[in-house]
Parts: sequence; C-alpha cells; structure tokens
Amino acid sequence: MRIAFFSATKTDKRVFQAHLQSLPIELTFFDEHLSERTVPLAQGFDGVCVFVNDLLSGGVLEQLAEYGIHLIALRCAGFNNVDMQMAQRLKMTVLRVPAYSPMAVAEHAVALMLTLNRKTHKAYNRVRDGNFTLEGLLGFDLCHKTVGIIGTGRIGQQLVPILKGFGMHILAYDPYPNNLLEQAGVQYVELDELYAKADIISLHVPLTSSSKHMIDAEALDKMKDGVMLINTSRGGLLDTEAVIAALKSRKLGYLGIDVYEQEDNLFFEDHSEEIIEDDIFERLVTFPNVLVTAHQAFFTQEALSNIAETTLANIMDFVEDNIKTCNQVVCE
Ligand code: NAD
Repeated sequence: MRIAFFSATKTDKRVFQAHLQSLPIELTFFDEHLSERTVPLAQGFDGVCVFVNDLLSGGVLEQLAEYGIHLIALRCAGFNNVDMQMAQRLKMTVLRVPAYSPMAVAEHAVALMLTLNRKTHKAYNRVRDGNFTLEGLLGFDLCHKTVGIIGTGRIGQQLVPILKGFGMHILAYDPYPNNLLEQAGVQYVELDELYAKADIISLHVPLTSSSKHMIDAEALDKMKDGVMLINTSRGGLLDTEAVIAALKSRKLGYLGIDVYEQEDNLFFEDHSEEIIEDDIFERLVTFPNVLVTAHQAFFTQEALSNIAETTLANIMDFVEDNIKTCNQVVCE
C-alpha cells in the first residue's frame, strides 16, 4: 500500500516510521499541505494520509479519484476540512482517529486558563530580564469560580475532574447531556444561562455548519464582563472580528486559543522572517490578554503514538476490507 503522507513534520516522520515495523505500507512524506496546487504529488499512490490543515475540497477529491485513490486516512479527529458529500459521491473511504488523547487537549485548555490567569509567560520573561516586580501579574483564584464547558464529548468530559480539583463550579451545555457527569456534579444548563454565569468558557464542540461562528457578537454580549474564553476546538467556532471588538470593549477579559479560522495559512510553519499578511491575526496578538498557541493541544508523546498506531491500523483495515465503523467518517 503506497501512501502519500502530506503535511509531514520531522516528528511525524520519526513517530510513524517507528510504528511501521513490518507492515506492508510504504509512506512517502511530503512537507506540503494537500491542496489544489499540490494534489499532483499524489499521482501513483494508493491513498493519502492528511492532517487538519490539508484542504480536501471537491476539486482535490475529484483529482484524487482520477488518480485511482479511494482512501483518505486522516491523522486527526475533526474532518471539517474534507468535502464529505463529494467523498461519498466518489465512493471514497475516509478514516480518522476519533480519540487519540482527549486528555492532552483538555490539559492544554487548562494550561491556557492558568497561563492567562497567572501570567506565567510574562513572569518567565520578566525574571530572566532581572525584573522582579509583580505589577500587572495579578490573577484570581479558580476555586469557587464558575466554568462553562460547551461540548462534553471525549475532550470536554476530561476537563471535569481537573477543574473540580481546583474547586470550581461546573456548568455545561451539550445537546446530549452525559448522566455520569451530572452525577459527578456537573450542571447542564441552556447556553444563555451558561453565558450569563460562567467566569471561564471552554469550547469543545466540532465545527459544523450549525456551530460555525457560534461565538458571535450576540453570544459575546450575553457573557459576563471580563469573561475568559478558551478555544482548543476549531477556529471557525469564533467570529474573530466580533471577538476583537469584545476585547476592545473589555467584555472579553482573556482569550486563549489554540486554533484560528485562517490557521492553514500560518500554523505548523516558520513565518518568523516574513511579513504576516493576515491583519486580523496580527491585531489579535497585540492584545496583552490574548494567548495564542499554534494548534499544539494534541501534541503529546502519548497522543502522537496513538495517532500513528490508529492511522496505520486504519490503512491495514482498508486493505483487508475490515474497516472499523467507529473510525469511518460518513455523511449524515
Ligand atoms: P466529541 O465528538 O467526542 O464531542 C463533541 C461534543 O460536542 C459531543 O458531545 C456533541 O454532542 C457536542 N456538540 C456538538 N455540537 C454542539 C453544539 N453546537 N453545542 C454544544 N455541544 C455540541 O469530540 P471531541 O473528541 O471532544 O473533540 C472536540 C473537538 O476538539 C473536535 O471536533 C476537534 O475539532 C477539536 N480537537 C482539537 C485538537 C487540538 O489539538 N486543538 C485536538 C483534537 C480535537
């Protein structure tokens, strides 16, 4: 099985090669994202292996089908970057890694909360610079504060014991409430009530046509003044211009994001010697109360190992016509 592996980083190459062992799979690594421009690289392969910022538009999928490719192996859980209607029409098999380490993402969401609150990123630089003052580093106790978790699936539910450990009161919103979490003391409420009561809001919702820009001006308006918003899910959940307006009006007191709507032009690459053209992103990073990480929430040793293992097993299942339905993406 010859697989064109797109958006390959040095770490991907090392981890996947370590897991390949004697499997009859040949991986050819390409640094490039898969796109309409780079799709010819897939010619001659039996399948493609892709990540979050590879864009599998209808045009790309049609081209892949022309090359005789019918396997898309995603190295991630989300599949909002694949035109699933077209994939289905072309009878392509789309496989993903539904849960590689929900804990990794939940822990990163907490890292964003703690950093924004206690400003350890600023303290680190200050102390190294010989500045031992505390002015500007004032935080707040998490204990007895209210956190609102939106989406209590695999990742959202991992946040519960961590935040309970801090002594926080936990509100949640999900169209499918989880009884076990309710028994553990999580209070499911409607979105408006969560917006009105939460001191910290953390998003763990997939990006779909109905969740796109769910955090818009209207939603932000309903939140507490000075609220902290954390997004480790997908950038498209936020209407970024409305978020910038809320930061300017001080409605939003803190913003921690690991994802950004236009991240495919920026993340996972070194642009430090270039002029960044994205004015919205550049405005975001000028705020002292905004912390951006570049889609690294999943990036733990355990998660990478699970991703490699499941992706290779998915490819073998495709070869052996023994696909696990839980790993297959199908249109609703
Ligand atoms: P999941 O499918 O297990 O859970 C999603 C939950 O969201 C479900 O319980 C669902 O009922 C709920 N939901 C759906 N629409 C909703 C809405 N409009 N409002 C409230 N709840 C809604 O998914 P997961 O594994 O917990 O992952 C969540 C998201 O995290 C993924 O879709 C992915 O985009 C993102 N993610 C990010 C990283 C990263 O590195 N930053 C890594 C993995 C996943």
